[in-house]
Parts: sequence; C-alpha cells; structure tokens
Amino acid sequence: MEISFKGKRALVTGAGKGIGRDIAKKLVECGAVTYAISRTKSDLDSLKSECPEIHTVQCDLENWDETDTAVKSCGDIDLLVNNAAVAILQPFLDVDKATFQKLFNINVQTVMQVSQIVAKNMILRGSGGSIVNVSSQASKAALKDHAVYCATKAALDSLTGVMGLELGPHKIRVNAVNPTVTNTAMGKVGWSDPAKAGPMLAKIPLGRFAEVEDVVNVVIFLLSDKAAMVNSTCLPIDGGFLAS
Ligand code: NAP
Repeated sequence: MEISFKGKRALVTGAGKGIGRDIAKKLVECGAVTYAISRTKSDLDSLKSECPEIHTVQCDLENWDETDTAVKSCGDIDLLVNNAAVAILQPFLDVDKATFQKLFNINVQTVMQVSQIVAKNMILRGSGGSIVNVSSQASKAALKDHAVYCATKAALDSLTGVMGLELGPHKIRVNAVNPTVTNTAMGKVGWSDPAKAGPMLAKIPLGRFAEVEDVVNVVIFLLSDKAAMVNSTCLPIDGGFLAS
C-alpha cells in the first residue's frame, strides 16, 4: 500500500527519540513537510543531521507557554501525532503528587493543548486533518507499578473518543494506537528485566514485543486517507495481548 503525504504538513511531539523519531522520519519519506518537537537539543540536532529536510523545534511540553509558542511557530498542520509521554514507575502506595502531576501534564494535558491549537487552525482553514494519539496497552490492562501511567493512557483513550466526536464534523479524524511493550528507551525502563518481561511475553499470542516499525506503520496508516472512515478508535498494536 503506497501512502503519500505530498503537500501535507505534519507535526510530531516527542520526536527526539524512540517511536516519535521514526514516525517523523517516515513522514518525511512519505513527502510531508515535517516538524519535530522534542525536549533534548542533542536529539534534535542528530535527527536534523540524519534527515536535513526536517524542521526541529526544541520545547519542554510540560511548560504551557513554551508549548503554545512552539506549536504556533510550526504554522498550518494537517497531520498531528501526539507521541511525547513519560513513564515513571512507582508502586501505587508510593505515588507522590509531583509524579502524578508531571505524568498527567505531559501525557494528557499537553495532548489537549497541542491538539486544540492544531485543530482550531484546521477548522479556520477548513482543511480537515488527521490526529493520532500514541496511547498504550497500559490504558486497558493493569500493570504493576504503572498506576499513574495506566491512568494517563486511559484518560488519553477517553480524550481521543471525545476529540473524534467533536472534531469529526470538521473532517478531522482522531484516533489512538495502543502498543504493547516496544523496543525503545521507555520500553527498557519497565521491561528489560527478564523476570518481568517473561510473564508479559507469555501473554502475547504472537510471542514477541513490538518493534518501533510495527507502531510507525499503523500510525502512518491512520494518518492517511487509507483510513478515511476510521475515527475515534483506539487500535491495539499488541500481538493479541488484550484479547488473551
Ligand atoms: P522514549 O523513547 O522515552 O521517547 C519519548 C520522547 O518524548 C523523547 O524524545 C522525549 O524527550 C520526548 N518527551 C518526553 N517528555 C517531553 C517533554 N516534556 N517535552 C518534550 N519532549 C518530551 O519513548 P517511546 O518508547 O518512544 O514512547 C513514545 C510513545 O509511545 C509514548 O507516548 C509512550 O507512552 C508510548 N508507548 C511506548 C511503549 C514502549 O514500550 N516503549 C509502549 C506503549 C506505548 P526527552 O528524552 O528529551 O525527554
């Protein structure tokens, strides 16, 4: 299936590392003028040298004003991927206020803020568009030490549904993807210990964790017109984990 984003402008948050970085590179490959927002400058510099066409914007998405300026500086956007998130693992009884607020700020509030800016502009231009929120299987499955992370991703699924409902009439589709453990820096935080990874792997019918490419391909499909009738959905990329 060939997908072209020629003539489209895309924005990916958290594009410095992992899944977001490869989504941004794939968007460029598919012809989109692509903006990559992330926090660490050295990641953006290495992305720019790997992919000179990309526009990099340094921003801490935890900061509301900085985010407002950064997103508006990207101009008109047709394709948005809300990918940035943090995972801080704590047993439920040890969760502290600062961690709770940080995760909800970055994983949920920022998605709302960035999407509001982008969607208002799409509506003003009457252009329509497509938004993909990168959620997780953790939104639907209870994972030990992931209380706040799971709660943020459940909130993101819920936000995705309402965004699709309210933005659909403006020809803006909004969907989420819900990957299983994926081979990135974040994936390693929770799952590099074989004692934890083994039981999780045993619950995945396909018998493996996801590769970054598995997630990138589904995000690109949902962004594209090939998914023209898909809206307000949360699509697992989990090898069957949630069904088992
Ligand atoms: P990652 O390797 O940790 O990369 C996350 C990226 O987001 C980094 O570039 C990071 O920049 C950026 N970011 C985080 N907070 C930011 C902030 N406040 N401002 C700007 N940029 C920020 O994570 P990943 O594994 O690629 O995860 C990407 C998405 O997939 C996330 O939404 C995650 O929840 C989801 N997901 C991941 C897995 C997994 O196992 N990896 C599974 C399911 C879902 P800095 O490093 O500079 O902070």
